Amino acid sequence: MIYDHLLVRYGELTLKGANRKMFVNQLRSNTKRALMPLQGYKVKANRDRMYIELEQDADMEEMCNRLKQVFGIYSISPVLKIEKDIATIKAQAIEFARQYKENDTFKIDVKRSDKNFEYDTFQLQREVGGAVLSETDHLSVDVHHPDHVIKIEVRHDAIYIYDRVIEGAGGLPVGTGGKTLLMLSGGIDSPVAGMEVMRRGVTIEAIHFHSPPFTSEKAKDKVIELTRILSEHVGEIKLYIVPFTELQKQIHKVVHERYTMTSTRRMMMRVADKVVHQVGANAIVNGENLGQVASQTLKSMYAINAVTSTPVLRPLLTLDKEEIVHKAKQIGTFDVSIQPFEDCCTIFTPKNPVTEPDYDKVLKYEEGFDFEEMIQSAVDNVETINIDKNYESKKDSETNSLAKDLF
Ligand code: ATP
Ligand code: MG
Repeated sequence: MIYDHLLVRYGELTLKGANRKMFVNQLRSNTKRALMPLQGYKVKANRDRMYIELEQDADMEEMCNRLKQVFGIYSISPVLKIEKDIATIKAQAIEFARQYKENDTFKIDVKRSDKNFEYDTFQLQREVGGAVLSETDHLSVDVHHPDHVIKIEVRHDAIYIYDRVIEGAGGLPVGTGGKTLLMLSGGIDSPVAGMEVMRRGVTIEAIHFHSPPFTSEKAKDKVIELTRILSEHVGEIKLYIVPFTELQKQIHKVVHERYTMTSTRRMMMRVADKVVHQVGANAIVNGENLGQVASQTLKSMYAINAVTSTPVLRPLLTLDKEEIVHKAKQIGTFDVSIQPFEDCCTIFTPKNPVTEPDYDKVLKYEEGFDFEEMIQSAVDNVETINIDKNYESKKDSETNSLAKDLF
């Protein structure tokens, strides 16, 4: 079937009254970016829905795959815009129906916003349904649980007819909800946390603490790959790699072994807080989950959180591990996350970390050294990488051309 439009529905956006214009503009630009560099289409975003006009050479299936990733899009339908004429409607409905399997069921669903159209809703259903039944002999009607719904929308400008509704990612358009800094480890949780906030329209930048030579380049590559997967939804994400080795060594010099985990998290948070201010973000996001490991009891969270007044968002706080794993598989980060490269915390993890840190003791141990300068130096030496969905291939080709120069 050659379709001439994609109908894109906004879902939740309709609730946003006065802000709607801003949301629609953002969604339009996110949609255009997701479709680049495909050719052969024109995007028309109205207040309540978007029409993407398709030219003959448009790769519609690829466009649908990309649109499914865009937050703020609720569903997508390939549609035909046809004349407001009963014979044309019938002919098109019959063409859809001919493709259905033997003994499938269908129903005709009519939405009629042009009340002046010569057939009312009921008449249209009966006329078109009757035409389909008499022109095919392998189908029957089921109004409650049909295998196929042929939808006919009678609007003022034309009639739109379709029988496919593709589920979108839902949520809100990224760029409408401010900016956060995601603490991205190589684990299962933090990429899922990032996706959760992006789904609510929030832009993310990511920060990763790297401790060479205790952690390998492979561990860093893993985080790059996770960022690349997240970027598929938004175009580009900035990843800040923080050199964390000196701070970790210093923590181990002055803090009691059982408290090193708590102080490590506190130093990460202090670095993240400075970066938040530097990049103009409004919150920190992490993958913490209540009660999962030693650093994630309420007492630990209290001690770690105390270094900052920036809001710390924990979208996975109350989920079960199985739910997080399920989400990680859905968004495609799970297989990368379970690759066995240590991150900086696994390496320095004490045998018996304190699960209920005494806050006064934390402060007392950290008084053994003035960490401020070292924290500032870590921030000053951050490596920034701009990552989009093609990042790996870009890097490979750079490496290739470098290799050519060398040999
Ligand atoms: P994850 O699967 O995200 O690593 P986790 O359950 O393993 O989470 P922890 O390792 O205790 O939990 O880390 C808690 C949170 O702290 C992580 O979700 C992440 O947001 C942050 N974090 C931990 N290590 C790093 C790191 N090296 N760089 C950046 N953030 C980190
Ligand atoms: Mg971890």
